[in-house]
Order: sequence, then C-alpha cells, then structure tokens
Amino acid sequence: ERRELQRLRSKPSRTLDGTDIRLLLNAESSEDFAQVHRLGAAGLGLYRTEFLFLQGRHLPDEQTQFEHYRDAVLAMAGRPATFRTIDLGADKADRAGLAPSHEDNPALGLRGIRLSMANPAVFDTQLRAILRASGYGPVRILLPMVSGREEVLAVRRRLRLIQRQLRDSGHAVSEQVALGAMIEVPAAALAVHGFIDLVDFLSVGTNDLVQYLLAADRNNPAVAGYYNPLHPSLLQLLAQLLDSASAAQVPVCVCGEIAGDARLVPLLLALGLRELSLHPSSLLEVRQAIRNSDLEQLSAARPALLRARDRRAIERWIATHITPGR
Ligand code: PEP
Ligand code: MG
Repeated sequence: ERRELQRLRSKPSRTLDGTDIRLLLNAESSEDFAQVHRLGAAGLGLYRTEFLFLQGRHLPDEQTQFEHYRDAVLAMAGRPATFRTIDLGADKADRAGLAPSHEDNPALGLRGIRLSMANPAVFDTQLRAILRASGYGPVRILLPMVSGREEVLAVRRRLRLIQRQLRDSGHAVSEQVALGAMIEVPAAALAVHGFIDLVDFLSVGTNDLVQYLLAADRNNPAVAGYYNPLHPSLLQLLAQLLDSASAAQVPVCVCGEIAGDARLVPLLLALGLRELSLHPSSLLEVRQAIRNSDLEQLSAARPALLRARDRRAIERWIATHITPGR
C-alpha cells in the first residue's frame, strides 16, 4: 500500500475524466521545501512566515527576512512560493511582544492582517523583504484574516509604493507579484464581491473559517463537537464563494486541514475546487483520491450535497461518492 502510494510521486493529480487539480504544499519552515519536488507538488500554497517571528526576542530585520524568503523562492526552482504575511495574535504570541499579550477574546482580537496594519513599520519591512525576493522567482503574497475591501485596498496601495521605492533604489522587483486574501472570516466569504477585483487569488483557511462560522473555538476540546467542518453552513458558504470567484475568474484554493483529508476529496471537487494546499504527509493520499474521482459525476451530485441538512446526510453523500482505492 505504501509502495503503491510512493509510485504516485511522479504521477499527475488528474481526475479520471482528465482534469488536473493543482496540489500545493503548506510549509512551516525551510525543512518542508524539498518535499515540493519529492512529491511533485505545484509549489508552496501557504508558507506560514510567522514562524520567523516566533524564534527570538527580537523581530527579524529586513535583510534576515529577505534572505529567508529568497532561499524559499530559489528552492522552488520556478514554482510559485506563497508567503502568508505574519499571522500572529490569537493562539500565536511572539517573544518580541508584537502580538498583544492579553485580550479577553484573542481569536476576535488583534491578529493576522489587523496586527500588521496596527504595526505599519513591521508590516512594511516584511513586504519589502518579500518583494525583494520576487526578483528571484515567482512570488505570491497572501493576507491572513481579511474581513473586507478596506484592508486589501490598503495593502495594494502599500505594495505599489514599496515596489516603486525598491526599484528606485536599484532592487530587482517582479512586476507580477500576485496578491491573495485568505478567506477565514465569514464576512469576507459572504461579501467577497466587495474586493474580488483587488485580488489575484483566494485561499480558504477552513481551520479558522469553521471556528468563526460555528462560533466554536478551534482549540477548545469542550466544544470540539461543535467544531464541525461537515456542517451544511460551511458547504453553502464555500459553494457561494466558489460561484462568485469563478464568475470573476479568480482561482480559489483551500489551505485548511480539510484539504489534506483524502476522504473529503469528492466533496471538495463536487463543490468546485480545483486547487488545494496541504501538508506534505497527506499529499499522495489526496492525489490518489483525485485520480479515482470522476469530476463529471461529482459535479452532477453537487445539488444533492448542498441539500444535505446535517452532518449525517453529508457523511452519507461522501460514503456514496467515495472512490474505490486502486
Ligand atoms: C486556516 O485557518 O485554515 C489556516 C490555514 O491558517 P492557520 O491554521 O495558520 O490559522
Ligand atoms: Mg487561519
């Protein structure tokens, strides 16, 4: 069985009826980069840069960050590297004291893009470092915890300004740095039409989206039963998001943990996803499930999936569309 999976390292992530699904990797440190090539992934879909900020008692300076990002870009050898800007706050506190040390509701507090906007000098330093790395290969910037148009617009403006400054001082900066928003706040999913013209791609962070949608702390075992990715509300929200994005021709990826659950591949494909970013350890299993999937059949079963009224009905749908292992 393991040998069988290993054989898939060099195979395309293609459905039975011939559609290629883009599989990217989630990375938390430079140790994950080599896996992209070992597993035949399309690039880095989520690089959690905050780990650089969790290491010491000082924030990393521009040069330190630049060298790190550049090495990631070079390690991709032409495949895209997606840098998620600092996602501190909530459960992730840094020793340098950037994230607030106490909030009554940290998950609803100053985290992700909100924290970056509240610390413009720190944010600009990170953007400068990422943009400088874009001179070495394809780079995408992904913003965590976006709630609407204002934030994306503000970042677009900042990026334009910094790009100009960097060029004026002789740095090679790519013209084509893609900007994306994470969809983790339900408001952003519902009102995506408000900022879809400002983004090049979207990436759904279901780990947080489920927490906020169902009002259930992702880390609290007492409400683990309420933290349910197979709730009809999540499917409705994803379906609506995918329809809006596809009308605007903006690609959508899922980078939360559900993307790495091979059992959910038929469900994600039926909803309309064609791009997933996942942990290296589950890539081959997910590829196998994709290769056993019939996209035409799954698309036809989408209305039935969206009519499911509870978790059990969704699980029944999955059970009838599970594809036999080969
Ligand atoms: C998510 O929320 O789904 C996500 C990918 O980000 P993180 O798990 O780092 O919050
Ligand atoms: Mg998140």
